[in-house]
Amino acid sequence: MSDNKTQLAVVGAGPGGYAAAFYAADHGMSVTLIDPEPNPGGVCLYRGCIPSKAFLHTAKVLNEAKEAKNFGVEFSEPKIDINKLRSWKEGVVQKLTSGLGILSKQRKVNFIQGRAAFQDSHALKIQMTKGGEEIVNFEYAIIATGSRPMTLPNLSMDSPRLMNSTQGLELNDIPKTLLVVGGGYIGLELGTVYAALGSQVTVVEMTPSLLTGVDRDMTAILERRLRSHFDSILLETKVVSMSQAANGINVHFEGAQVKNKEQEFEKVLVAIGRKPNSSGLGLENTKVQIDQKGFIKINAQRQTTEPNIYSIGDVAGEPMLAHKASHEGRVAVDAIAGKKVAFEPNAIPAVVFTNPEIAWCGITETQAVRENIPFKIAKFPWGASGRATTLDRNDGLTKLILNPETERVLGVGIVGVGAGELIAEGVLAVEMGAVAADIKFSIHPHPTLSETVMESAEAFYGHSTHIYQPKR
Ligand code: FAD
Repeated sequence: MSDNKTQLAVVGAGPGGYAAAFYAADHGMSVTLIDPEPNPGGVCLYRGCIPSKAFLHTAKVLNEAKEAKNFGVEFSEPKIDINKLRSWKEGVVQKLTSGLGILSKQRKVNFIQGRAAFQDSHALKIQMTKGGEEIVNFEYAIIATGSRPMTLPNLSMDSPRLMNSTQGLELNDIPKTLLVVGGGYIGLELGTVYAALGSQVTVVEMTPSLLTGVDRDMTAILERRLRSHFDSILLETKVVSMSQAANGINVHFEGAQVKNKEQEFEKVLVAIGRKPNSSGLGLENTKVQIDQKGFIKINAQRQTTEPNIYSIGDVAGEPMLAHKASHEGRVAVDAIAGKKVAFEPNAIPAVVFTNPEIAWCGITETQAVRENIPFKIAKFPWGASGRATTLDRNDGLTKLILNPETERVLGVGIVGVGAGELIAEGVLAVEMGAVAADIKFSIHPHPTLSETVMESAEAFYGHSTHIYQPKR
C-alpha cells in the first residue's frame, strides 16, 4: 500500500469534482482527484447530460426531417443503424472524457482511478480499480460523489426489460413499446429519444402535470406536442405493480386517467428521481453529517460539519444539475484558499432538452405565487415571432417575471426550440439586476428567437411591436 500526501483531495470526478480540482490546480494547490472511471467526467459525461444530448440531437434531426414535408420537402423513411448510432454516442463520450484526462494531466492533477472512503478527517483509503489499496493524506477534501437513480420496491424486478436512465442510454435495442415511469426531465428526454427512433412511448406520472413545479402555461405547450409524439401520457396515475410477461413486462396502473389498468410493454424505463451517493464513504469516521434525505449538510461556503471537508454537486443538495455542481466547486476552492465567498446565485438555469425545450431561471411564476412574492408577468407568444415562423415552430412562449415596483427581472421562463440557449440572456439579466427597460432598450438581432426576450420586455410596458395590447 502506498501513501500519498496532497493539499486537496477531491472524491468524485463529475462536473463538480473535476471543475474544483482543475480550479484548485490553476491556483497552485497540489490536488488528487479520485474516481472509479478511467477519466474525469462523472455521471454527466458518461451516463447523463452528454450521452442523452447526443441522442436528443439524433431525435431532433429525425423529427425535423419528418416535419419538413410541411414546407414541401419530403425524405424517405430513415434507416437507423443502431450500432453506428450507439458507437457515435460512445465516441462523443470518449472524446470529451479523454479530453478531460489530458487537461487533468496538463494541470498536474494526480488522478487516481479507484473508490475512496474516509479513514478519518485527514486520510482516505482508496480501493484501486486495477486492484490494491492506496492511502491519500490530505489537508482539505471535497466530496463530489454525485447521485444515482432512485428505485422503489414496486418498480424493481430482475429483468433486462426494466431499465434505469443509465441502461436506457446504452440503447441496446429500440423496443416496439416503451413505458417511461416518471414525467420529470430525464423521463421526458429519454422518451423523446425513443419515440423519435420509433418506439411507441407511454409516460406515466403520479402528479397532475409533467415537470412538476414548472409553470403550467409553459408545460402545456410541451405537453401538447409530446401528446402527438408519444402514444399516451397518463397523469395522476401510478404504477402499482409489474410482472414478467412472455415478451415484455405486464404493468398494473391505478389512476383516474387510465382506461386500461393492465398493459404490457416490451420495455419499461424508470426515471423517478435520483438519490445522493453519501453512503459507503466512511463519513462515520469524520464529523461530516447528512440530512434525512441523505444529502451532505453544508454551509454557504460548501463546508461540511467537518471544517476541512467540503461538499458540492448532487451529493450536497438540489438542484441536481451539472452547472450548479461546477459553480459550487469553484466556491469551495475559493473558500479553502481563504477568499471571502459564498454560494448565493440569484439564478440557476434549468433546461429540459425536449422538443420543444423548456428553460427557466430565477423565480418561476409558480414560486412567486407560493411564496407571496409581488410580481407582474410579461409574455411574448412565439406565434408572433418572425424567426419562429420561418422555423415552422410557433409553439413557444417567452415570459418575464418582474417586480412590479422596481421593474427588476426576477425570473425568466422560455419554452420553444433553442430555449436552452436563449435562457443564458435571462440568467445574465437576473444576476445583473437588470430591469425590463434594460432588455427593451438592448437591440436584439433580427430575425432571431432572442427578440422574443426583448419583446416580452416591451410587452411589460404595453407596447410590444408584434402584439397588440389594448390600453386598459
Ligand atoms: P456526478 O456527475 O454524479 O459524478 C460523481 C462521480 O463520483 C462519479 O463518477 C462517481 O462514480 C464518483 N464516485 C462516487 N462515489 C465515489 C467514491 N466513493 N470514490 C470515488 N469516486 C466516487 N444535468 C444538467 O445540468 N444538464 C443536463 O442536461 C443533464 N442531463 C442529465 C441526463 C441524465 C440521463 C442524468 C442521469 C443526469 C443528467 N443531469 C443533467 C444531471 C447531472 O448529470 C448531474 O447533476 C451532475 O452529473 C452532478 O455532478 P456531480 O459532480 O455532483 O456528480
